[in-house]
Amino acid sequence: MTYTLNNIINSPLKNKTKAKVTSDFGKRTMYNNVTKKYETNHHNGIDIIGGNEIVSFFDGVVTSTRNNIKGYSSKYPSGNYVTIKHSECLYSTYCHLKYQSVNVKKNEIVSSNTILGLMGKTGHATGTHLHFGIKKNGKWIDPKPFLLNNTMETNNKKEITYIVKKGDNLSKIAKKYNTTWQSIYQKNKELIGNNPNLIKIGWKLKI
Ligand SMILES: [Zn+2]
Repeated sequence: MTYTLNNIINSPLKNKTKAKVTSDFGKRTMYNNVTKKYETNHHNGIDIIGGNEIVSFFDGVVTSTRNNIKGYSSKYPSGNYVTIKHSECLYSTYCHLKYQSVNVKKNEIVSSNTILGLMGKTGHATGTHLHFGIKKNGKWIDPKPFLLNNTMETNNKKEITYIVKKGDNLSKIAKKYNTTWQSIYQKNKELIGNNPNLIKIGWKLKI
């Protein structure tokens, strides 16, 4: 059941390009210690191990967090978590984070290397792992394609707005979104003007 996911491009584990998947997305059968029966349910994300620092897998804005769950909790199955909005219809969530390790606040802008918290086992978790989920148009979907390919664009027909940060240039941004700097330049020519090398921090670019 456990397998290694290799060649991760957008990783929720800081500086890791692989992760061990201990429980996959979709239907799963688990032993319930309370009812003493095997139960089948739908796992709405993937459980992974192989890292400690949890980062946002992609740029976005924090929409909610919890940081005060000390250990096992059946009332708060997600434990300590962070949810991030990447576009109007795409959200990612990071659950079971270590008690008081959550490092970000609601409305904070995060990039793909912002540390959100540390891997833990708070909430409904028996071992230390990260539960990583992606919700698209209000529905949980398999997050693996988002980690392995830069599918933010192809999976999400809605336009992405990118806010220029310190040290950015068009090539760097293009690489992030698997597009070309020329394409970004064309879409934002009115804003950028004649010099594609001159972009300013805080500008909102259409990708
Ligand atoms: Zn899980």
